[in-house]
Amino acid sequence: DTIILWFRQDLRINDHPALQAAAAAGGPVLPLYILDDDSPGRWRAGGASRWWLHHSLAELATTLKSKYRLPLVLRRGEPRQILADLCRESGASRVFCSRQYEPWAASLEEQLHQSLGEMGITLRRFAGSLLFEPGSVLTGAGTPFKVFTPFWKACRSAPEPRWPLSPPDTLPAPAQLPASDSLADWQLTPRKPDWARGWDERWQPGSEGAAAALAAFLGDRLGSYSHDRDVPALRGTSGLSPHLHFGEISPRTVWHAASQQARGNPALTEELSRFLGELGWREFSYHLLHHFPGLPDEPFREAFRAFPWQRNDSLLKAWQAGQTGYPLVDAGMRELWQTGYMHNRVRMVAASFLTKHLLQPWQDGEAWFWDTLVDADLANNAASWQWVAGCGADAAPYFRIFNPSAQGGKFDPDGEYVRHWVPELARLPARYVHCPVEAPPAALEEAGIVLGRDYPLPLVDHRLARERALESYRSLSQ
Ligand code: FAD
Repeated sequence: DTIILWFRQDLRINDHPALQAAAAAGGPVLPLYILDDDSPGRWRAGGASRWWLHHSLAELATTLKSKYRLPLVLRRGEPRQILADLCRESGASRVFCSRQYEPWAASLEEQLHQSLGEMGITLRRFAGSLLFEPGSVLTGAGTPFKVFTPFWKACRSAPEPRWPLSPPDTLPAPAQLPASDSLADWQLTPRKPDWARGWDERWQPGSEGAAAALAAFLGDRLGSYSHDRDVPALRGTSGLSPHLHFGEISPRTVWHAASQQARGNPALTEELSRFLGELGWREFSYHLLHHFPGLPDEPFREAFRAFPWQRNDSLLKAWQAGQTGYPLVDAGMRELWQTGYMHNRVRMVAASFLTKHLLQPWQDGEAWFWDTLVDADLANNAASWQWVAGCGADAAPYFRIFNPSAQGGKFDPDGEYVRHWVPELARLPARYVHCPVEAPPAALEEAGIVLGRDYPLPLVDHRLARERALESYRSLSQ
């Protein structure tokens, strides 16, 4: 009796409970991936995610072939139809998959449960993408946590996540293999213009790349993580976010590998707890999304529905293009466009600038990130944007409005990050590189810059923009 192993955001064979259970059943296994652009609605995979997905699927197909002599069947369309067809074609009576937590995905699972059930087919969902399942960590009153610190404390006092599973040695193939689309025909990678050119020097999508990123991080960077993670010019973090999003590595694997590394080394205790805490933020975002499915679209704090945004397309475009006149923001936006990634500190500053200095709705920034980040993740992106905009659960207090120039001076003191991504400012002395408008004419001349021609004048004045944002905030009835 064939089992369809439906891969989703779990593109790996290590520590894969659904795959493990399929192997344990002993019968033939048919691996499948469905490209579904309809169920997610406006949250269908964005451009950068599609590039990543292409490469990740190619790697998974190669792994399944070489380790198990199994093909990865690719189909595009509506999962209910495709799974029903494929069960008929292959004679399968069971479908195994990993759970997903996006609201559209969760309701799809419910519908499938129903529609496949009516055909006598069982859908079994396995946990595998999180350390702690949503719903399993609740307050004493049985309600969802809305504040991170007590949430994470509760997680840390729950039993440790289980040790990761090793992949099975064998997975039997079905006697007959159904037809598959060709990955190339899906055209997931950008064609003309190929804005992802050069990304494969920076990224290695797939489980092998994930394992390499983890090993490099634990070997070289865990020891100075809590300091270096905030310095955008350094590669101080793990770079695991796209790998975690696509499930090329499980969070349990990351958790246990990092814990092992720190075992018996007191100098790493603090660093480890900081790193696990960041995995904790990922958990928290997923718990929020599970309990509050409106998170990607609506402000968590209802008062913010009345926020007086001042929608302006040209301001949004200038921000997207990295042409705001605030060097740290512009550097971040250009890093994003050129690599599919932006440093976390700079994400916070760039997002704050859009929502508070420019008064553009956080949803517009969220949508841009969704399309351009290789780690675009509905839970993390929505929760983070709401956090920065001040309308989220446990959000930053609204009045803490980042000063982009001061943030630059603090976290990029020599201007190395800005010089790299905004090369027109490369020759400015460090004291002006984050605030070119304050540079005396002689310094600008020596650096060969005419403001307004070679680099934009600031779109807004920080002090005035800050006052305007605070006024807008005060207009809300809290
Ligand atoms: P590390 O510092 O090595 O952290 C390890 C892992 O912990 C990350 O891979 C990630 O899975 C998780 N993590 C770290 N920081 C956070 C955080 N603040 N919130 C939730 N999880 C976190 N992260 C995404 O994965 N996808 C997104 O779409 C996304 N959008 C963001 C939007 C904004 C406006 C902001 C401020 C942050 C966003 N983040 C998002 C969170 C964070 O910036 C990235 O997870 C992080 O920069 C990834 O780099 P890393 O893997 O090297 O992180």
